[in-house]
This record gives sequence, structure tokens and C-alpha cells, in this order.
Amino acid sequence: MTDRTDILRRAMASLELGGRPQSLINGVLVDGAGVPIDLVDPFTGRVLMSYPDADAPLADLACEVAQTAQTAWATELTGAQRGRIMCDVARAVMAHIDPLATIEAIVAGKPVRDCRVEIAKVAEMFTYYAGWADKLHGAVIPVPSGHLNYTLREPLGVVFQITPWNAPVFTAGWQIAPAIATGNGVVIKPSELTPVTTVALVRLAEQAGLPRGLVNVLCGLGPTAGQAAIAHRAVRKVVFVGSPETGRRVAMAAAAALKPVVLELGGKSANIVFEDANLEHACLGAQAAIFSGAGQSCVAGSRLLVHRSIHDAFVEMLSRGMNRIKLGDPLDETTEVGPISNARQFTHVTDMVNAAKADGAAVLSRETCPPQGYFVVPTILHGLSNDARAAQTEIFGPVVSVIAFSDEAEAVAMANATEFGLAGAVWTADVGRAHRMAAAVRAGTFWINSYKAIHVSSPFGGSLSSGYGRSSGTDALMEYTASKSVWLDSAPEPRIAFGYVS
Ligand code: NAD
Repeated sequence: MTDRTDILRRAMASLELGGRPQSLINGVLVDGAGVPIDLVDPFTGRVLMSYPDADAPLADLACEVAQTAQTAWATELTGAQRGRIMCDVARAVMAHIDPLATIEAIVAGKPVRDCRVEIAKVAEMFTYYAGWADKLHGAVIPVPSGHLNYTLREPLGVVFQITPWNAPVFTAGWQIAPAIATGNGVVIKPSELTPVTTVALVRLAEQAGLPRGLVNVLCGLGPTAGQAAIAHRAVRKVVFVGSPETGRRVAMAAAAALKPVVLELGGKSANIVFEDANLEHACLGAQAAIFSGAGQSCVAGSRLLVHRSIHDAFVEMLSRGMNRIKLGDPLDETTEVGPISNARQFTHVTDMVNAAKADGAAVLSRETCPPQGYFVVPTILHGLSNDARAAQTEIFGPVVSVIAFSDEAEAVAMANATEFGLAGAVWTADVGRAHRMAAAVRAGTFWINSYKAIHVSSPFGGSLSSGYGRSSGTDALMEYTASKSVWLDSAPEPRIAFGYVS
């Protein structure tokens, strides 16, 4: 056992978790019976602890339990009562921010100060959606037949959520909060590489008053536990956050059972800098866009499109900034960027940098980097065309491709010439141009003189290989509910006739 395993175990114990990841079903921590899974510390590359895959039987049990709890949650409590419980959950999350951040920092390799910010946002997600819990209503529609026609917004039932490793507790809160605010039950399967904070979040929520079994967590693998839950008859919708490859598999499995899906997938977002921009701000924005979180963000500004007249100077500025970033132990309060989160991702990022070199990229790398674990040096690639592998493939690491453009039309054409449609940004002093770019770039989120600002009150999602459907804001309320149309005939004589509906 390493010292860091010890720190992890103590943080887990303080949240009343056992000494290894366990699924949380009906308020009880349970071990799976599947193959062993290792939790690896990305800072050292050493195994922290192991646990058995939840496997299909636990997935089936979680879905059954969620169905029973959902019926009571949706029918026996008022929206205001559900909202009050969710506010209590938010307070419980804030009261345990330190152990949650410690676990996330060790297991996911994220700087602890970033983890605290994300956990505070989880609390905000619960209070935001708590406010909606008693404000969901339909409409009265003036149909021409004289019937009273009104709509109800109803919960779907049980939703199955699958989340990735790059922002585990943030993504869990992001999907659980709107799902339960709208009266649904949840089964959530976090990444097998980073399951602990999701279990901790739901355990805290139950201690704060969330009914046991309303949200159940599966600690296990996608092809086993994940596929079993997708197929379970109680599951009415699947919400998937992860890679396009797995998203395709999830959508196909859900389609076989005619279940709707939300897919929040990857990106290759264009961060576009015009010559009239405040270049200091744009440079700071470009660094944050790609190097924060070691580039492991779906909206990372991984293609930096820079006007030809400032290209060389901007690359030089970016390179100076890159060398000032503090890399180090995710548990160190001063660390700005940690390691890549896992071995598979580390191999992918290093392979992509080697592919870029083979394709003739000029490479500028940060001068120093911790020599251990899964660290990748922040890297700038330039001299590549927009259709090179490194400019088209999601790298999901601290690696940016800088590409020159000559005018607005070329910038738009380059920005849209990928398979993705998740995010984008423009840096310019010309307000007209800013709005033209916002309209022309294919993206679910677009920033003007900014990058990476997101909030639970604003919708988020993508198109094409970035997925479909929307999370957060009022859009998520729609994703997690369905409308029912109710018709009442108040005429004194029955008006039943054939042919009303064809
Ligand atoms: P991944 O696709 O490998 O895994 C995501 C989840 O899917 C994990 O929980 C995994 O266990 C599960 N899974 C794997 N195989 C499965 C199967 N056959 N059936 C069911 N579930 C299965 O993704 P990752 O490597 O964990 O995360 C990185 C990816 O996530 C990147 O592409 C990133 O862009 C994307 N991402 C997108 C968003 C967004 O909101 N658009 C946010 C964060 C991350």
C-alpha cells in the first residue's frame, strides 16, 4: 500500500465509504462479482486499490430498485419537497468539499484546486435544479374542437447515465440533478477508472435526505454492467458522456430496445484569433483552453487558428506562457496542471504527438515536466495543415495545433472542416465580426473573447460526432421529461366520432 492509498482510504472513510470502490444500490454499498479492476494513481503510475466489476446482476438489481424508488419520488412528494431535499444535498456537498476534492485529485489526477471548483459547481447544480422542481408545468392549448386540451410534463421513469473519467463528480452532478428534479430515478455508471466520487456524492445525498435507491451507482465496466443496464426494461432513456466510439456502441444498443439517447461526445474545437484582438488576453485564453486540465476537456481549444499576420508572434507568446505553467502533484495546492488521467490516454496522446512529428509538424514543448506517472509535456504543434491527423483527431491532452488563416472566410471554413460540432471561440475587437463568427461556426457553445465559460443555467451539447441532445439549463428539463396531451370533452352530448385521428 502506498502513502497515497492511505490518504485515499482516509478520505473515503471520512465519507463513510469502504476501503475500495463499491456499487451503491438501495443505499447499501455492495461488491460486484466480476473481473478485478485496478484504480491507478496517474501521478505515480502505481495501483492504489482494486475492486471487482459490478457486472450484469448488479446492473439489473440497480434498475429494479430505481424503478420502485422513482414511483414514490414522483408521486408521493410535491415538487417543493423534492426541491428542499436537493438544497439539503447541495449543503452536504459543500460541507464535504475537502475529502471529495482529495479523492478526485488522487484518482483522476486533477489539481486539487480545480477539483474544489468543480465540486462547488456540483452543489450549484443541485440548488439550480431544486428551483425548477416545483415549476414544471404544461400548457392549455386552444384546440379548434372545443375540448379542453392541456399538457403535463412527466418524468420518464428510470434513466441510465454513463460518464467518463475526465470530470467524474462534475459530470455526475450535471446529469443527476436535472434527472431527479424532474422526478426520475437514476442508475449511473461512472468510468471504471474514477468511480469513487460519484459513489461519495450519492451517499452524501442519501445522508442529506434523498430517498435510498432513487439514485444507484454501478462501479464497473461498460461492456458488462453498462450494456446490461441499457437493455434493462426499467430504463427509459440513456444519457452518455464519453468518446464518439463508445457513444456509437451505446446508441446502437439503445436503438435495439428503441430507447432514446443523449450523446455528449468529443470535439476538436477551433479557437480563432484575429489580428485586432487583445493578444495578451487571447494568449491567456488559448493557454487555458488547451493546457488547463492537461487538455482533457471535451471543449478544449485544440485547434488554434491564428491570423497569418500574427502567427509567429502568437506562437512565441504561447510558448513563453506554456513554460510558466506549474506542473506537479495534483494534491499540491499550487499545481496548475497534473498528469494525464490514465495509461490508455497517455499512450494515445504520445502516439498523436509522434504522428504529428511524422507528418512534419514543428514541435515546441515545455522545457520541464515531472519524470514520473503519466505526465505529458504541454506541446505546441505548428506548420501542419488543417487536415493533418493531429488537427483532426481528438487528442484529449495538452497538445495544441496552431494553424494560420488569411481571412474570415478561410477561418470559418477551417473551423467547420472537422467531423465535430461541440465548441469554438473567436478573439477580435470587431463586434460585427464576432457575431458573424458566432453564427457561422458549427458549435453548440461559442465564446467571444473568452473560453471555457459554462454554467448549469445555460444549455450544452453538440452535433455530428460531438453527439446530440442537450444537457444543463432548461434544455435538460425537456430531455428528462415527456409531454402528455390530455383531452376533456365538456359538450353536453357525446361527440365521439370515427376519424378524429388517422
Ligand atoms: P469512453 O467512451 O471510453 O468511456 C465513457 C464511459 O463509457 C465509461 O463509463 C465507460 O466505462 C463506458 N463504456 C465503455 N464501453 C462501453 C460499452 N460498450 N457500453 C456501455 N458503456 C461503455 O470515454 P472516456 O475515455 O472515459 O472519456 C473521454 C471522452 O469523453 C472524450 O472523447 C471526451 O471528449 C468525452 N467527453 C465529452 C463531454 C461532453 O459533454 N461532450 C464531456 C466530457 C468528456
